[in-house]
Amino acid sequence: MSQPVKYLLDESRMPKYWYNLVADLPKPPPPVLHPGTQKPIGPDDLAPLFPMALIQQEVSTEREIEIPEPVREIYRQWRPSPLYRARRLEQALGTPARIYYKNESISPAGSHKPNTAVAQAFYNKEAGVKRLTTETGAGQWGSSLAFAGVLFGLDVQVFMVRVSYHQKPYRRALMESWGARCVASPSEETASGRAILAQRPDHPGSLGIAISEAVEVAAQRDDTKYSLGSVLSHVLLHQTVVGQEAMLQLEMADDYPDVVVGCTGGGSNFAGIAFPFLGAQLRGGRSVRIVAVEPAACPTLTRGPYAYDFGDTAHLTPLVKMYTLGSTFTPPGFHAGGLRYHGMAPLVSHVKELGLIEARAYHQTACFDAGVLFARTEGILPAPEANHAIKGAIDEALRCKEEGVSQAILFNMCGHGHFDMPAYIDYFAGKLTDQEYDQAELAMALSGLPSVTEV
Ligand SMILES: *Cc1c(COP(=O)(O)O)cnc(C)c1O
Repeated sequence: MSQPVKYLLDESRMPKYWYNLVADLPKPPPPVLHPGTQKPIGPDDLAPLFPMALIQQEVSTEREIEIPEPVREIYRQWRPSPLYRARRLEQALGTPARIYYKNESISPAGSHKPNTAVAQAFYNKEAGVKRLTTETGAGQWGSSLAFAGVLFGLDVQVFMVRVSYHQKPYRRALMESWGARCVASPSEETASGRAILAQRPDHPGSLGIAISEAVEVAAQRDDTKYSLGSVLSHVLLHQTVVGQEAMLQLEMADDYPDVVVGCTGGGSNFAGIAFPFLGAQLRGGRSVRIVAVEPAACPTLTRGPYAYDFGDTAHLTPLVKMYTLGSTFTPPGFHAGGLRYHGMAPLVSHVKELGLIEARAYHQTACFDAGVLFARTEGILPAPEANHAIKGAIDEALRCKEEGVSQAILFNMCGHGHFDMPAYIDYFAGKLTDQEYDQAELAMALSGLPSVTEV
């Protein structure tokens, strides 16, 4: 009898609700604070940047939030996404573990990000917004929002981290194909960008700087709002379709994960696959080990303190409590651009602080070794970000082999690497190096954390 490698969910079983972990937490996450007053902010404080429907989701404590039909209609183009059993990878590793992965690379933009881009574009359109601004690291988020924007007739302006802008011209072309305008950040188009360029004209950029630029433009114009591809609770919420589907697909496989693994940049694809399982555990279901994998060159969860900080470099955002390397920290220019953020989603940080998840950090060459083994066994060439999750899953599978235990490991294959070929070219040429972050720069960035008296 042939053994199944793919679990396809019928369209009729695609989730009708997003799952909100906050409803099941033993302790609510700390409030978001106004940087001036240091008092908790209210919905009105966010109104210049986001439509009210998304602000309500940001602060919601409801367990289930209905997915609007127009969003589901677009989701159906590639959802439910397949769940695979990685049998050839298991064989190559000689592990008794059962490895499963959710393939989010099959969306039009090639990653999990359209799950939230489509939802955000929908709510902005409903609120009468004409234009969205955003930042992008590797270009996956910018292209996802460009895709969603064009479906709803919204103009999209993307500030792209300068080093990626030059490393990834094809992502830029993809954004332009979907009608968006893409600008290298730091740029001359905003006061925040000009201030940075005045200090260092060759600044490689960072997500923190690009966020400042996008927020600045959105705050100045009534018809323009800002859209964020990760970090915020409503973004994590939209990604929970991934974990909910995986749960149903594992039911088809008559299995349940012992370990769930995801890579973490801002925390959204990780939360998307992990939170539905964590919620089930918190409601009395089976317990799962949940492992967040981050780059050793930007080790937010494993090296940063849990502290109030700004989400951006120019300090235009509210203060959120999170694991952070300091808002002025510029990580070295390694290839997983989507993981180069100084902070971590407040909700992911909160569950880490509560001891509900684990975190570990890997250098990039070890992650590329893992990604290439995955390509040579499973056939899919992963994004450099996804290589971190694969490395985490492989290490868990090797642990099972060592301990002689057969556990089920689930990870999120959050994107393909077809636009990241320069990174693979460097890897095969032996030119990929493991970069260390600058200790002095980290110390300086941390010394600049805002002082907040918590009540
Ligand atoms: C953006 C991106 C990430 C990092 O963002 P998260 O919010 O942490 O998921 C990871 N993988 C891929 C493929 C991405 O596009």
